[in-house]
Amino acid sequence: MATQYYLCTQCQKKYPTHQKLFDTLYEFSKAAPEDCLACGVVRELHITLDFPLGEGESDFKVVSAFLPDKLESWLGEEEEEVTFYPFLAVLQRAGDRKQFCWMPYWHVTGKEAKFGQHAICLDHRQFESLVGQIWGKARDREKEFELV
Ligand SMILES: [Zn+2]
Repeated sequence: MATQYYLCTQCQKKYPTHQKLFDTLYEFSKAAPEDCLACGVVRELHITLDFPLGEGESDFKVVSAFLPDKLESWLGEEEEEVTFYPFLAVLQRAGDRKQFCWMPYWHVTGKEAKFGQHAICLDHRQFESLVGQIWGKARDREKEFELV
């Protein structure tokens, strides 16, 4: 699991969020964090991961966070509606500014959000390479159709 806080880019004041990570990421995906209460400057969202991403610090700035436009829901056990929230967050390591693509996900039932244990976190270039291959394949398929 990970812990999170807001950091003022001006006075460096740290603000604990007093929130669950799901709620913090969800809000961050919808709107920028509120400005620093002390100096009125923009605050950044930071995350401390409890698993290593190679060498270096475990403190990351959340550059951006996204959810798909359309979320999937289904009826789970006890006929309760379950909604799947797959996030894509771009993280930038505090020390060397290296970027990673992190995909934590939750299953939300009523007010309970269950964290998926196997969130993937990839080097930004590895992630781009994978996504690039999807687009490459899609283009190849289009070309095949054109030839038929
Ligand atoms: Zn400040």
